[in-house]
Amino acid sequence: MWKKWKSLPLWGKIVAGMVGGLIWGLVAVIFGWSDFNDNWIRPFGTIFLNMLRMIAIPLIFVSLVKGMSSLTDIGKLSRIGLKTLGFFMASTIIAITIGLLIVNIIRPGYAFPEAKRTEMQEQYARSVGEPESIVDQIETRSPLGIIVDIIPENVINAAGDNRNILQVIFFAILFGIAITLVPHEKVNTVRELFSGLNVIILKIVDLVMKFAPVGVFALLGSLVVDFTGDDVAESLDLFASLGLYVMTTILGFLVMIFLVYPTVLRMITPVRYRDFYRAISPAQMIAFSTSSSAATLPVSMEVVEQDLGVSKTISSFVLPLGTTINMDGTSIYHAVAAVFIAQVFGFDLTIAQQLTLVLTATLASIGAPGIPGGGIIMLVIILSSVGLPAEGLALVIALDRPLDMLRTVVNITGDCTASTVIAKTEGELVFPVKRPL
Ligand code: ASP
Repeated sequence: MWKKWKSLPLWGKIVAGMVGGLIWGLVAVIFGWSDFNDNWIRPFGTIFLNMLRMIAIPLIFVSLVKGMSSLTDIGKLSRIGLKTLGFFMASTIIAITIGLLIVNIIRPGYAFPEAKRTEMQEQYARSVGEPESIVDQIETRSPLGIIVDIIPENVINAAGDNRNILQVIFFAILFGIAITLVPHEKVNTVRELFSGLNVIILKIVDLVMKFAPVGVFALLGSLVVDFTGDDVAESLDLFASLGLYVMTTILGFLVMIFLVYPTVLRMITPVRYRDFYRAISPAQMIAFSTSSSAATLPVSMEVVEQDLGVSKTISSFVLPLGTTINMDGTSIYHAVAAVFIAQVFGFDLTIAQQLTLVLTATLASIGAPGIPGGGIIMLVIILSSVGLPAEGLALVIALDRPLDMLRTVVNITGDCTASTVIAKTEGELVFPVKRPL
């Protein structure tokens, strides 16, 4: 048995961990073992998440500096930067449009029973408090606030908080640009130092990933326990009413994963979508179980470099940036959720309001942190931008987590697609990857 387990590839072990976690969660709920779960299982999930978070800042900093300093030509750097931003913008707008189209066609809000609606609004009104106070902060920002926030006042403080990842990226890019601008011989030691650090950090990622099967087991098991609570029947009732809304959102995700990304890959790169999904599946599974694209970053970087042949220069630039500002899944979710809430509350959104929605949803997906629940915080801003009641959040908050898991998968798939496409256009893609014999 142990021998069999050992010979399984990592993704196989992760799947086993996921399935085992789901089964364990159900067993724990049925037998009332949630205390045991809290004391003895949940901590392993936290340990795994913390290990991933722990490595995020050093990984981003070292790999960005390493990637950028290997660029000798500053023109190439700005070209890659522009291309990346262009790609991110385009894919976000496509995602929002898909979301708006399907939610306007399926109209899940009209399937919602009136009585249930009132009941749910009261039941969940309490959970709305916290995101609202965040909105107040964000709404009082000036229009250039997003840019101002990217420039750290103090680098050490910025690196001290994983929410400031954009600030760390900014400093790392500046650092990398400076390395390419000074005479080579003066900074050779620094370049070598970063190459060495890079190898060490990748090894740490490798070691952390060995713990992934246990981590996802604990994460998913605890999620089932939290979700179903004490009363399995009541939660089931609630989920049934929201089913159509969930299906609509998932349909949007599927269109993105099975239609949009494969088409783009096919048009621009030699990578077939099956090879692509096989390569990035470990990252998708981690995204699914952690609900955090930031936590998945180390794995996304590893898979695109090692299995898709994207160069370090491209992956270390596109992926950390994508993790923070490119969230296609979150964009689809925002569009569907906002219109769903409008439908439930009987608001008819005009074309102008839907356009405002596109704009705010784009900015919101840029601003949303790559952490669990990052998207729902931003949803409040979107709702207020089109004049929808923030209480609408109460309707969708109950089902946020499973959708969060799925949108995180879409988010990182979009980032991996972007890095593959940009690598191809820059001549930085070696696919199929040649493995040493
Ligand atoms: N959890 C998502 C992510 O990390 C963000 C979101 O909540 O939409 O990509």
